[in-house]
Amino acid sequence: MEFRGRQTQKCPRCGGKALINQYKCPDCGLIFAKLDMATNKAASQRYKNREKSAIVFVKKVPIDLKRWKLILYTVLFGLFGAQYFYTKRWWWGLCYILGFTLLSVCVIFNAPLLNIWDGGLISFFGLIVGVYGVCWMFDIFKVCLGKFKIPVSLPKNELNAVILSKEED
Ligand SMILES: [Zn+2]
Repeated sequence: MEFRGRQTQKCPRCGGKALINQYKCPDCGLIFAKLDMATNKAASQRYKNREKSAIVFVKKVPIDLKRWKLILYTVLFGLFGAQYFYTKRWWWGLCYILGFTLLSVCVIFNAPLLNIWDGGLISFFGLIVGVYGVCWMFDIFKVCLGKFKIPVSLPKNELNAVILSKEED
């Protein structure tokens, strides 16, 4: 397909290129309109059933989540990974909890550990905390700019199977 000089979109499932007005991805067959009906709840069910191939990551907040909530959680509780728990990305959420725990340990035991370990252990913790703090900052930017990726799926059919009847608002 010729894409030069024409507006394109990136397929959220396979990363392939499609024209902006194309209804489905020429590479993997994903029907883009279906993503508007896909929910984060269905993705959560897919995770439980270990059907990762039926999950698509989208940047548009799905119908069963609220954008303002996502922003609020990220800014207020992003240190605890609330943005990941809210969007059902449990493993990332746990990573943030771990990061927060390390941060706490670092702060609480800072002085005594410095004496015992000659600063070696502190710099190790400091590195982890630093990386994790930057991740949190990036999350705030991504959420506010609408670039945070959220897993979605449909409850029964494959995303590229039969076109579901689209309900009008
Ligand atoms: Zn595709």
